[in-house]
Amino acid sequence: MVIAIDGPAGSGKSTIAKKIAKREGFIFLNTGSFYRGVSLALLRSRGGSLDGSGARSLDVSDEESVASFAATVPLDYRGDHLFIGDEDVDSLLRTDAVESIVAQVSAIVPLRHTVNEKIRMVARNASVVCEGRDMTTVVFPDAQFKFFLDASVQSRAKRRFLQGTSSLSLAEIERTISARDEIDRNKKEGSLKIAPDATYIDTSDLTIDDVCDMIISKIH
Ligand code: C5P
Repeated sequence: MVIAIDGPAGSGKSTIAKKIAKREGFIFLNTGSFYRGVSLALLRSRGGSLDGSGARSLDVSDEESVASFAATVPLDYRGDHLFIGDEDVDSLLRTDAVESIVAQVSAIVPLRHTVNEKIRMVARNASVVCEGRDMTTVVFPDAQFKFFLDASVQSRAKRRFLQGTSSLSLAEIERTISARDEIDRNKKEGSLKIAPDATYIDTSDLTIDDVCDMIISKIH
């Protein structure tokens, strides 16, 4: 069974999908991690340190070479964590360096195809709760349950700020979230949109548990 959840950055998708997966005994699949893993590998290949910082500037507009590089990155997903080969890189995926390129990297169409195949492999013969931008529309259009989680830019920025993984100010985080929204909504393929058969939930004024209860009651 596939429970597919889409929504913009900071809408609470990961926390909520993870909780639901735990309650239902499903695998939790954070698909943004795959794009973040490719971005981290790219930064490292440009002289970046282990967390990607300090890399030489990257020409993301050279889509062909970025996509070819991505196809060689040995991404793996084990127990909620993303691996590059045997290295668990999950704790390195939310740095400012990765954050600054991931939306552009994930806009490259052939790179998306590589990632989609990996995601479908993980979900094959399993029950999953997956979250991302195009789970309900492209990757699992036949998912049994579909949800779209939304929230205002201000409340999403505040949540990211409170997570403490960024050194940016609240106003700067708000700007980067808006910029990512813009890229995510205008991608040639896999753009962020509401599937006609998805349940829409605005989480701005709801707690994580409120949203989990709404989703679980819908599923049952
Ligand atoms: O969900 P998260 O913010 O970790 O995703 C990181 C980036 O990866 C997003 O900004 C989005 O551009 C991209 N992404 C995507 N498709 C997905 C998941 C994430 O394009 N299914």
